[in-house]
Amino acid sequence: MTEIIVNGKCPAYIKKEEVRAIVLATITVMAYHGHYLKRPQDGVKVCISKRSLGKNRLNPEGENGGLAWRGLGMFKIKRGIRNKPAFTTILIHESIHLCESWGDSDEFIVSTLTDRLKESIVEIAEELASNTYRRAACFAHTNPNMAYHKSEDEDCYNDEQWSNKKTTSGNKSIAA
Ligand SMILES: [Zn+2]
Repeated sequence: MTEIIVNGKCPAYIKKEEVRAIVLATITVMAYHGHYLKRPQDGVKVCISKRSLGKNRLNPEGENGGLAWRGLGMFKIKRGIRNKPAFTTILIHESIHLCESWGDSDEFIVSTLTDRLKESIVEIAEELASNTYRRAACFAHTNPNMAYHKSEDEDCYNDEQWSNKKTTSGNKSIAA
């Protein structure tokens, strides 16, 4: 899977965990539907930039909020974006750019998908980000000399894996 590296300081309204979750959720949704990063094994680099990202190509009165380089698996996003919903929109938009390009219609298709996929992406990201430290504690227990660690001759199955009966509920849309 894909490592998400965030460089630079996040705006005060968003946590680094949320940035990683939104980018990874976008890449996950794109990959689920067959649109992949160029080099998934290299991960994705997100650079939060204090500086201007230049004039927008399609709208020269406006400045870029983000800029993506699909071949490099990286994008920049401006730290000065006014609020969290706008920052989230740019994270999703630029992450979609990393997963596919549609030639002449690129910006129209990417911005349309940003709208249409946002609900699913944010829902996945919300679960990833909100339980970050609860899961991190589980992973900490896998280290040598920690609670989950067994010596080679003591290894066995933990039947607790069967106790929670939770599963998915099909492929139909869930009413909002
Ligand atoms: Zn774009």
